[in-house]
Amino acid sequence: MDLYEYQAKELFAKHGVPVLAGEVATTPEQAREIAARIGGETVVKAQVKTGGRGKAGGVKLATSPDEAAEKAALILGMDIKGHTVHRVLVTQASDIAEEYYFSFLLDRSGRTFLAMASVEGGVEIEEVAHTNPDAIARVPVDALLGVDAATARSIAEAAHFPAETLDQVADVIASLWTVFTEEDATLVEVNPMVKTPDGKVIALDGKVTLDDNASFRRPDHAGFADPAAADPLEARAAEKHLNYVKLDGEVGIIGNGAGLVMSTLDVVAYAGGMHGGVKPANFLDIGGGASAEVMANGLQIILSDPSVRSVFVNVFGGITSCDAVANGIVAAFALLEQSGETVTRPLVVRLDGNNAGVGRRILTQAALPGVRQVDTMDGAADQAAELAAQGA
Ligand code: GDP
Ligand code: MN
Repeated sequence: MDLYEYQAKELFAKHGVPVLAGEVATTPEQAREIAARIGGETVVKAQVKTGGRGKAGGVKLATSPDEAAEKAALILGMDIKGHTVHRVLVTQASDIAEEYYFSFLLDRSGRTFLAMASVEGGVEIEEVAHTNPDAIARVPVDALLGVDAATARSIAEAAHFPAETLDQVADVIASLWTVFTEEDATLVEVNPMVKTPDGKVIALDGKVTLDDNASFRRPDHAGFADPAAADPLEARAAEKHLNYVKLDGEVGIIGNGAGLVMSTLDVVAYAGGMHGGVKPANFLDIGGGASAEVMANGLQIILSDPSVRSVFVNVFGGITSCDAVANGIVAAFALLEQSGETVTRPLVVRLDGNNAGVGRRILTQAALPGVRQVDTMDGAADQAAELAAQGA
């Protein structure tokens, strides 16, 4: 789960990372009140789960409470890379002498944790990464040893932080490591980490991604969830305990087993290239023991996605044999019909593996409307893509 900046900063403050005072507003009037409470110059910042807010006009300075209200009125409702701004953070403004970059992240390809640090932080960090990658120090962090004061200092030195900031920066790095581990994060990023003209080091922005696999032992994180920001289909699928991820294509996908579903996405994307560029509309793994109910729930979610124009059910029978899956599909159609949702879009079913012959016969005999069978995965992908392209 990605956090909003204001939530990330709550975690920073909890673990001793220096941040400036701030509060969240949903109306210009609230922004005015908060700015008045904070006093002096403030910054009004769009709270959206995407970067580049500054460049998009979502970060504005205000010299008075009235101006904070004006800036909030401009930013609230703004669209930043497809994210509508519903909230702004009104925070104490800071003078900036220097902008640095710092992050801890899970480096999956390196199979380790990684610290990244640069004295060339700020809104151009992506540009720096491209044109001057050596300006960003990358220091692997041993998961067993972690980051103590000495390690924190060596990371700061590797990135050539100015001598007078080393003590403070090392402290901040050590505190950020505490955030990373104590909160079960997979990313903790501060850009910019600033040095003020009077030499203080502060986290001016914050980005934290929490590891959802650890949510069972972090009950206090439940309050960070923002159902309104979640994809509505993904939220409904989660309620039904389905492994569903919404994608932006047209071919609905159901399969059993994460590996099979991922390769199904690949073959559909490939076949789509021959049919007007249609793409998979989702990832959905119904798992091993796909009951009729799970199949019905899966179909229901996929068919309520208005961009879906065809559905590809790709099942390799293993412990759950194909006849059970075929019966599941038949029963799912009956369940959907009972709830008044007739299946209007074409379904391509490919059954292979354990008891494939029996499963195929069951489907042939059921003669469900719009359902056709193809014996091979590539053939079925091609047919599903073609149907989606025709349905355009
Ligand atoms: P992002 O663009 O989404 O990463 O948002 P940031 O919070 O990083 O803000 C973008 C930029 O706005 C920063 O790099 C700063 O240059 C500037 N900025 C943010 N807060 C302040 C502030 O308190 N004072 C000043 N002078 N500039 C700020
Ligand atoms: Mn930033």
